[in-house]
Amino acid sequence: MFQPEIETLPRERLRALQDERLRKIVAYVYERVPFYRQKLDEAGVRPDTFRGLDELSRLPFTKKQDLRDHYPFGLFAVPREEVIRVHASSGTTGKPTVVGYTRRDIEIFAEVNARSLAAAGARPGMMLHNAYGYGLFTGGLGVHYGGERLGLTVVPVSGGMTERQIMLIQDFKPDVITATPSYLQTLAGEFRRRGIPPEAISLKIAIPGAEPWTEAIRKDIEEGLGVKAVNIYGLSEIIGPGVSQECLEAQSGSHIWEDHFLPEVVDPETGEPLPDGEEGVLVFTTLTKEALPLLRYWTGDITYLIREPCVCGRTHVRMGPIKGRTDDMLIIRGVNVYPTQVEAVLETIPEVAPHYQLVVRREGTLDEALLRVELSEPVFRRITHEVLSDEVVEADHGLRAIREKIGQKIKETIGVTMRVELLAPGEAPRSAGGKLRRVMDERNLSA
Ligand code: ADP
Ligand code: ZN
Repeated sequence: MFQPEIETLPRERLRALQDERLRKIVAYVYERVPFYRQKLDEAGVRPDTFRGLDELSRLPFTKKQDLRDHYPFGLFAVPREEVIRVHASSGTTGKPTVVGYTRRDIEIFAEVNARSLAAAGARPGMMLHNAYGYGLFTGGLGVHYGGERLGLTVVPVSGGMTERQIMLIQDFKPDVITATPSYLQTLAGEFRRRGIPPEAISLKIAIPGAEPWTEAIRKDIEEGLGVKAVNIYGLSEIIGPGVSQECLEAQSGSHIWEDHFLPEVVDPETGEPLPDGEEGVLVFTTLTKEALPLLRYWTGDITYLIREPCVCGRTHVRMGPIKGRTDDMLIIRGVNVYPTQVEAVLETIPEVAPHYQLVVRREGTLDEALLRVELSEPVFRRITHEVLSDEVVEADHGLRAIREKIGQKIKETIGVTMRVELLAPGEAPRSAGGKLRRVMDERNLSA
């Protein structure tokens, strides 16, 4: 562990630390951020009488729109001159969300990423091939600083230019790779295409994050690159990567670094806190951030908390995999659908690969969902050597059966009818470096 004492702190002491820090941060934002002073006044919360953790749910939520409304620097709690770095998240529409860091924030950013890399199994002296994007995106620089802090040899490759990535991995022989899961799949596919077996790849650990991924993708990455894959999670608003990290020992849920980030899971409709294990929206209060402290930030990410002790000995609470963002939820013929639900169904069908695309259109007043799924390599090789056209599928009993099975399972588990198209390996979109959009919603719902 990078900081064994804090990572294994007994729960009561961790709670006491959170309580003390929460009181401080409430007073701090009340003092320094007009937006929060107003919100807290409206909620009837006064820093001098606020009773800490027990009253957490009295604090107002902060939403992405609040950051947009104060674009670019309006929620900063320090003078702009004390901000030594800014980052921004892409933002689906319009202006990006801008975040800032003081020198101390950057130190904490490095610290939580060093903790994360160590929890993933990285050790001082190892080499890290960092293929998260460098720039305004927090991924590249966050992991970079963490790697240096832990004492790794960091290769700041950034995303993209797959040819060069493959060359560098073969020449430098790194132990650890960090990249989005979809890009790790791209790299694994490229090694496979070149006939380089996993045993011939130096990598031992992959740390996918920045977008949802599933057990099937884990298997694809682990087998393709000959590694163990462990999740890293984060978001710019809270700090960037390193908010939580899956440990190598358990590979089962990601430890939230709770001395810095106080998590809650709340009901998406009512905002009421939910008990551990129940699925809802993940909400964070930053406990130590100076430049952009946030109270109860509504991430939109859907998951649940796991409070049971972990085999690794860390006491920090774990979160399950992210099912998706509320932003990513599709409503198809009135049914709520997350892309990860589609992935979960595909995982149960051995004849297909974990590569797909979901296209939603509106024909007249009716939503039409088209699920385009790649066949697995062995199935494709066994059944046909030609291009996989509709006619080929129609004429082939085995392929028709696979197609029907997919449609049926989707209908049974998600409750939506989808038209299924089978693709040859390599036909579904691949990541060229960063996050991959597997869903194309071509309905113009605002019109
Ligand atoms: P952008 O909004 O441009 O994507 P961020 O990089 O801040 O900017 O994205 C953070 C979001 O990415 C999170 O809120 C979450 O939805 C997603 N994300 C990050 N890490 C993971 C992960 N390990 N698993 C699933 N989703 C993740
Ligand atoms: Zn653990």
